[in-house]
Amino acid sequence: MGLALSQARAALDTRDVPIGAVVLNAEGVVIGAGRNEREHDGDPTAHAEMLAIRRAAKEVPGWRLDGCTLVVTLEPCAMCAGAISLARIPRVVFGAWDAKAGAAGSVLEVLRETRLNHWVEVFGGVREAECAELLRDFFANHR
Ligand SMILES: [Zn+2]
Repeated sequence: MGLALSQARAALDTRDVPIGAVVLNAEGVVIGAGRNEREHDGDPTAHAEMLAIRRAAKEVPGWRLDGCTLVVTLEPCAMCAGAISLARIPRVVFGAWDAKAGAAGSVLEVLRETRLNHWVEVFGGVREAECAELLRDFFANHR
């Protein structure tokens, strides 16, 4: 989560909402990292998880991220939860819950939807206070 938080802080350089993500392989080595670059790229899909997943997928044969863990500072949205499922990532760790758009239990439950063919083990609220504070400070300074 420390590395994901570092990625999140780096998003502040481009005035993007500070959200960061990393993908670790089965050996615990970081094979993909990303930060929210929506404003920077002018791309509504440039979420931290999407960029980390794309980069991680280049580091493995094929596209399946079997055995990997995605760590992200904010509960994934529906798009990112969909990408996590499509990438076959078996484990997600996230920091702050997102009561407005979270798709790992807050608003929707995509990662553990039993009707889908891929289920994800989810650990939410890890270093939640730090992750939430970063977002709170950002929005407090942009009003
Ligand atoms: Zn997302």
